[in-house]
Amino acid sequence: MKYFPPEIVNREIFIKPPIKVVDMGAKIWDGALIGYLVGKSLPFGAVETNLEKKWQKYGKINIHTLDKGFFILKFEDSSMGAIIMEEGPWDLWGIHLALRKWERGLVPCCFCLDRVPIWLKKFNVPTESWTRDGMSYIANGLGTPICIDSSTKSKSKLNFARICVEIAVNSSFPLVVKLIRPYGTPVSVHIEHTWKPPICDVCKVFNHPTRSCRKSNDSGRLLKPKISKPANKADG
Ligand SMILES: [Zn+2]
Repeated sequence: MKYFPPEIVNREIFIKPPIKVVDMGAKIWDGALIGYLVGKSLPFGAVETNLEKKWQKYGKINIHTLDKGFFILKFEDSSMGAIIMEEGPWDLWGIHLALRKWERGLVPCCFCLDRVPIWLKKFNVPTESWTRDGMSYIANGLGTPICIDSSTKSKSKLNFARICVEIAVNSSFPLVVKLIRPYGTPVSVHIEHTWKPPICDVCKVFNHPTRSCRKSNDSGRLLKPKISKPANKADG
């Protein structure tokens, strides 16, 4: 270990490591994936054994646990993460495994359950939109595009496109997006969600359905969110 003096401004401590130190640290995780089992957590050992078996053909994997049930999947061959993403969706014993690419700048507290990557099928996509950017534009109407699968990339089956999109918990899960085109008339692209995560309307997370929320009271009625209303004087 080495000593690097910090900077103290107004009694606050500031530490600014040079970019080469950060880049060296980031290199370790380049190509890694962040995983999360939606709705149910499994013992770490079970996840590790199952994924090692399931993804044997992609080479050696190291799994590192994070907070709140998230984990990082690091591959000996760093190009494998992207391939695994494209070959998704994946599950463990029927539990959906949400995956996203590790990115520089992510901090552990960013791993929230209020957004989740979901695979969607898009029907009626015009052939001129059958590019990575074209697909991204359509996906932007639904969430943040993450990747397309290999058959969409190769354009082998033009009857539908498969794309992985990060969806926010307040999404309306639209079934149609209108595509305005410079040539030809507007087109309705139809969306099919191959899997819809359990959503809790009380906690605003993709994790458990509202009906099994711990914040529900015994009678099954939901506890009202913390919005204080003036008490009804007639009751008092
Ligand atoms: Zn809840």
